[in-house]
Amino acid sequence: MSYYLGLDFGTSGARAIVIDPGQGILHQAQVSHPLNISSASCSLWQTQLDQLLQQIPHDLKGNLERIAIDGTSSTVLICDGQGHPLRDALLYNNNQAGDVLNTLKIIAPADHVVLAATSSLAKLLWLQGQPEFPAARYFLHQADWLGFLLHGQLGISDYHNALKLGYDPAREVYPDWFQHPVLAPLHPFLPKVVAPGTVIAPISSQAATRWQINPTCAICAGTTDSMGAFLASGATALGTAVTSLGSTLVLKLISPIPIQASAYGIYSHRCGDYWLVGGASNCGGAILKEFFTDQELESLSAAINPDIPSELDYYPLPQAGERFPIHDPDLQPRLDPKPEHPQEFLHGLLESLARIEAQGYRLLVSLGASPLKRVYTAGGGAKNGAWTKIRTRVLGVPVQASPQTEAAYGTALLALRGLAAYENLAQKLPASPLKVLG
Ligand code: ADP
Repeated sequence: MSYYLGLDFGTSGARAIVIDPGQGILHQAQVSHPLNISSASCSLWQTQLDQLLQQIPHDLKGNLERIAIDGTSSTVLICDGQGHPLRDALLYNNNQAGDVLNTLKIIAPADHVVLAATSSLAKLLWLQGQPEFPAARYFLHQADWLGFLLHGQLGISDYHNALKLGYDPAREVYPDWFQHPVLAPLHPFLPKVVAPGTVIAPISSQAATRWQINPTCAICAGTTDSMGAFLASGATALGTAVTSLGSTLVLKLISPIPIQASAYGIYSHRCGDYWLVGGASNCGGAILKEFFTDQELESLSAAINPDIPSELDYYPLPQAGERFPIHDPDLQPRLDPKPEHPQEFLHGLLESLARIEAQGYRLLVSLGASPLKRVYTAGGGAKNGAWTKIRTRVLGVPVQASPQTEAAYGTALLALRGLAAYENLAQKLPASPLKVLG
């Protein structure tokens, strides 16, 4: 029997999931970041990788066929020619690179995803000015470097991680504006980019011996943690979406064309022949937590009749300002009128959040995404049955909890089948134009 390992290096810790060819989970384990060690420390990731691999039962490790790794998007590092990091990594949310944004604005197209202080490209530009840079030979994402620890190859990334480095996944090149004189000196540091799940190399003999892994096990190009979580849902068909009901409301819809609308914070990840178009509202579960305990959420939700629409019309922002589905930096939270009964209030909040979700999908569809056909749900709100019924009524399509939500599971699926499930067999798509809305 052959087995497939997904390793997830997320924001709070690292996880491993081993699956069989039938996609069943055979092993899972996790390690949290210790409080006293920076999660930007590459040696911490190395320790976590070691702990996760040590914990996998020998009979599974001896029969691993492929391994894939996901890391947090835009967590990056520079290393020397042997792969030794020259300083701590810059984490996904590190915005030290803000100073280079003005330079980048002159170079990159107005609405490009690289135009954020946290983007990989902003970080690379910033790192160029740091004292360690002269010794640098490679610029890598977290997942690229962890993959290197297993296969020994440097300078390779995948088109999910490379999106915020400016790589164009539609044309599979770095765009022409990379020829700008400011970016030209960085060319030697740009990784070669392949599709997530592509086999890069067999595991190095050193790694195979150290962890007693099948010596012919292949190490694949990885992905980002949020794409790993999406892949875990198993959603593969056009028009299928995954809503994450966590602290914020995150929408992702499988579409035939990419959509980028920077004002709304909408951008697209390539997934084989399809595109995953996404947007995130500042509204979400965080506001529910402000008014209700988890226990109250459960008991009050159970008492709601989800078939009767609530007339209450809220816009439950935690603070002023919204991007998606309404672009208004000054939009005020709307939480009035507040009824006497907490159950009615909760009903109004859940109904309003469902309307915002529906408005979000309508916006994506109006920009060219596939019509919505089915919604999988992840995050803390996925277990709320009343909310699921309200959302089914408001969205007008079947809504169900994702059977799997762990990014490590999605990354194990990537190791198993790459992006083959996202191939458009009926009609191989010609390179489609990027739909841009300012
Ligand atoms: P994140 O990772 O974004 O912090 P989670 O996916 O862990 O979020 O989900 C946490 C959110 O889920 C909380 O904001 C909470 O309000 C919401 N939540 C938890 N239980 C319920 C419930 N029974 N019904 C609705 N929302 C819930």
